[in-house]
Amino acid sequence: MAGSLKKLREQINQIAPNRSVSSDGTIGDAAHVSRKSDHNPWIIENGIGVVTALDVTHDPIHGCDAQKLVDSLISSKDQRIKYIIYNGKIISSTFKPWEWRPYTGVNPHNKHCHISVNGEKEKYDSALPWQIKL
Ligand SMILES: [Zn+2]
Repeated sequence: MAGSLKKLREQINQIAPNRSVSSDGTIGDAAHVSRKSDHNPWIIENGIGVVTALDVTHDPIHGCDAQKLVDSLISSKDQRIKYIIYNGKIISSTFKPWEWRPYTGVNPHNKHCHISVNGEKEKYDSALPWQIKL
């Protein structure tokens, strides 16, 4: 798992230690493998695949509000972000930068938000603290 996402999950868990992880995800399941997804370890580093996507469960009752998380990530415009999907919408740092667009994939992402990080090692493995609010 990319170092930047390990750091992000660690920060989220510190803020909301009792949050549900029922829709959390890192590495792709069988359904993901056939699809183009950053949950698939397509980046190979010294023979080991690197996963560059993280799903975070929306659990506002236990202090992890995916909308707040997504909003804070967007306002930070952190250079590590590649794109974010939440609640039927997608926002990218490169294509139409930081502008929400409809997301037409099979999963509307309403139980979790999806964060993909950039494919360059100095970005995906950067463990600098993220500017987040939950
Ligand atoms: Zn995802």
